[in-house]
Amino acid sequence: MPDTITAGRTPTSPTLDEKALARALSGHHLIGGQLVPAASGKTFPVVNPATAEEVATAALGDAADVDRAVSVAAAAQKEWAKVPARKRGELVGACAKAIAEHVEELGRLIALETGKALRTESRVEANVVADIFAFYGGLGSELKGETVPFHPDVLSMTVREPLGVVGAIIPWNVPMLLMALKVAPALVAGNAVVVKSAEEAPLAVLRICEILNRILPPGLFNMLSGFGPECGAPLVEHPKVRKVTFTGSVEVGRIVGQAAAKKIVPVTLELGGKSPMIVFADADLEKTVMGAITSMRFTRQGQSCTAASRIYVHEKIFDAFVSSLAAKVDAMVMGDPLDEKTDIGTIISADQFAKVKGFIDEGLATKGATGRACSAMPSDPALKKGLFIQPHIFTGLTRDSRLVREEIFGPVTVLFPFSDWQQVLAEANDSEYGLAASVWTNNLKVGLRMAHALEAGLVQINQNLVVQANLSYGGIKSSGLGKEASLEAMLEHFMHKKTIMVNMA
Ligand code: ADP
Repeated sequence: MPDTITAGRTPTSPTLDEKALARALSGHHLIGGQLVPAASGKTFPVVNPATAEEVATAALGDAADVDRAVSVAAAAQKEWAKVPARKRGELVGACAKAIAEHVEELGRLIALETGKALRTESRVEANVVADIFAFYGGLGSELKGETVPFHPDVLSMTVREPLGVVGAIIPWNVPMLLMALKVAPALVAGNAVVVKSAEEAPLAVLRICEILNRILPPGLFNMLSGFGPECGAPLVEHPKVRKVTFTGSVEVGRIVGQAAAKKIVPVTLELGGKSPMIVFADADLEKTVMGAITSMRFTRQGQSCTAASRIYVHEKIFDAFVSSLAAKVDAMVMGDPLDEKTDIGTIISADQFAKVKGFIDEGLATKGATGRACSAMPSDPALKKGLFIQPHIFTGLTRDSRLVREEIFGPVTVLFPFSDWQQVLAEANDSEYGLAASVWTNNLKVGLRMAHALEAGLVQINQNLVVQANLSYGGIKSSGLGKEASLEAMLEHFMHKKTIMVNMA
């Protein structure tokens, strides 16, 4: 018998009825292993950006919910820290298996609430989440300390210990993946976690939390929904939260960083980007144009902090590159996020839509600039209220344009020709951001020279892959503080090192 899905009753097995699942998850946090309403009883709507329909509600969290979740997490953490590290890893590995069984369900649910296309984005994200949990699940026995040669009669060593309760705040663009990068290493390291989801995308992360709570001890992984100042801020400021990890805007990152500094707790900040892509004349044109499309995350409507939103192309191939890019983006299908034929879904929200449109209008009104609108708007009447924006490719802008300097977080890229590597390097580095960059050339000497000189936390040559579980990721300059993903990120950011000395004389 399949589970029936009714309000407040979620199925234990995977479901492909994303709308019923959204309704069943409605109005809940997950605290202490239970789906519970907000203490205030208040909720806010969750809207499908492809149709403007309200598909669910989310619990409107505030300081009372934060306090409840953090207290429960603090109690659970004390017991969890006593579980042998490898056993903790095994349980996190079991979480990976459970997520893998729910990939299709999670892909559909995240597509419903974010408008991200199922085939190109949402399903991919769900698979990466399972991979991240699997990766960290295998690292339980790697939480090693060191012995230090201090004196023959003194045994000196370091041991790594968990930090306690981790407060994690996540954004809406890849919420499941960015949540996994925080939760999986935090748990294996012996911490408990309280996550505050993004107001625009609370459902899929809540469902993951529910699935994982069938495996993990109750209280270890809790999920709150709500708005930044009312729910995020009290989480960051809560005295029992001993580590803060945040992904979002630079503006809020500054607020979160200051609040953590006030309490003197460690903080990891993953913030914005304006990532340059530099294409030399010897690069393989076809491969590089395809690379620009993936680098720009056009399938996600460019809603990515690593989006290649500034593309510098050698003047010898500039015109050919621009025409080929425009033609290929033109051929992409924009439409219903849940349709397998769709390449590009929607923008997340009306606010974001207005912001991106503002940048595009400014670019189109700039004298001497050309903005090519690519890909056709969907014709399906069911999508007429959908937040679709045609990808825009701009040339002829000046370097001081807002489109060149600011993070747009939409399907807009700007292209410039260059002739000299030093000039392009200076331009690429002339940004407050320093998250990611890519260089495209068949000359390894040139590629490596650029990779060393580019001011970014991640530089890729002839590719621009999304975050990988085993490679550390994080920006410099205003793009952030600290690293995520990889063994090092778990050791350095979710544990502290204690020094122990034993005098044996
Ligand atoms: P975006 O522009 O991508 O929405 P934000 O930085 O505004 O990025 O939001 C990222 C996350 O930070 C969201 O979960 C949001 O609710 C949360 N947030 C916003 N303001 C605050 C705040 N003052 N304190 C803590 N969290 C906040």
